[in-house]
Amino acid sequence: MDVKEKAFAWVDTNKEGIIELWKQMVSIDSGIGVKEGGMEIGNLCAGILEELGFTIRRYHFEKCGDTIIGERGDLSKPYTLLMGHIDTVFYEGEVAKRPFTIKDGKAYGPGVLDMKGGDCIALSALRALKDAGYDFPCKVIFVADEEPAHIFSNNPEVIMKEAKGAKYCFNFETGFPDHDITVQRKGCWRFFVETFGRGCHVGNDPENGRSAILEMAHKIIEIEKLTDFSKNYNINVGTIEGGTVANAAPAHCKVECDFRYINEADLVEMREKVKKIVDTVYVKDVTTTMSESCGFAAMERLPGNMELLEVAKEVCKENGWPIPGPKLCGGASDAAYTCKVGVPSLCSIGVEGRRNHTVEEWADVDSMFARTKLIVALILKLTK
Ligand SMILES: [Zn+2]
Repeated sequence: MDVKEKAFAWVDTNKEGIIELWKQMVSIDSGIGVKEGGMEIGNLCAGILEELGFTIRRYHFEKCGDTIIGERGDLSKPYTLLMGHIDTVFYEGEVAKRPFTIKDGKAYGPGVLDMKGGDCIALSALRALKDAGYDFPCKVIFVADEEPAHIFSNNPEVIMKEAKGAKYCFNFETGFPDHDITVQRKGCWRFFVETFGRGCHVGNDPENGRSAILEMAHKIIEIEKLTDFSKNYNINVGTIEGGTVANAAPAHCKVECDFRYINEADLVEMREKVKKIVDTVYVKDVTTTMSESCGFAAMERLPGNMELLEVAKEVCKENGWPIPGPKLCGGASDAAYTCKVGVPSLCSIGVEGRRNHTVEEWADVDSMFARTKLIVALILKLTK
């Protein structure tokens, strides 16, 4: 048996063990702001990497789990970079409500798809290659606050710093049942708009009122008008709060907006357009402020991403697997930051499934093994 056959055989004979690791990962409550769970799953991953000959470095943060950096071999030359996030979009207690289960070939549980399944693939592919006696220079990055767009850390900078020098990167995000692989992702810019008017009793003193809600109503319509699907961008006023009672003019209103885009130039332009709307006064005496909420850079479609996809297609053809096409994804991911420093990257190569970020999230169990083999074969081809 050659190395590939040996590694594939390891996957075929260790399916139960792979599922056991997947279950173990999903069973750790590492939702948004659950630092303890973030630490626990980080320690689990670090332990496995150490078994596989990696040395571990960590970045500590006050409000989320450590970022785990695993390193093996000579990283002064171009190396393989594997990346994943180990947090989920849920809150504390979700695991107890919905423990890991498998039914009719589908796995369920918080983060089963996004993206503990993918993290499990990364570690399993490394195990399979180690078992087959194949050594190659490799770095692994696991972060614990991707879902809330890194509000608890400076992980975007950490990723950009750590990714420099990588030959290529695989980010093990949520895979899609059509087997397509993400080569480009939209960016996301989030911001708050707040209006401040003057309250008054609408029975006794109506002329004195300055409605913060009316001002915001004008602004919402203007902001929503900025969506232009022909330019591949859209803006959404997603939340609103304001006012106190029906018989008082509202003195305050606040909305949060989300802008999705492909080109950085569109973001610059959109900031200007929004600022204009913010500065326009529709209701006399009402003032308005704008503040940044959080954001995510766009994953640029580097030529190298397309070259990597070609290699993936080749590998699939050689092995008789379905051929993946290129996907442009509306959701953001950390592959944005590896692409920012010019590292060719493929994303969405985790387990395949649907409904991530909801309680109906599911993952296709067979794709766990298929994707592990794909990663094994890809690494072998790219590191020869
Ligand atoms: Zn994710």
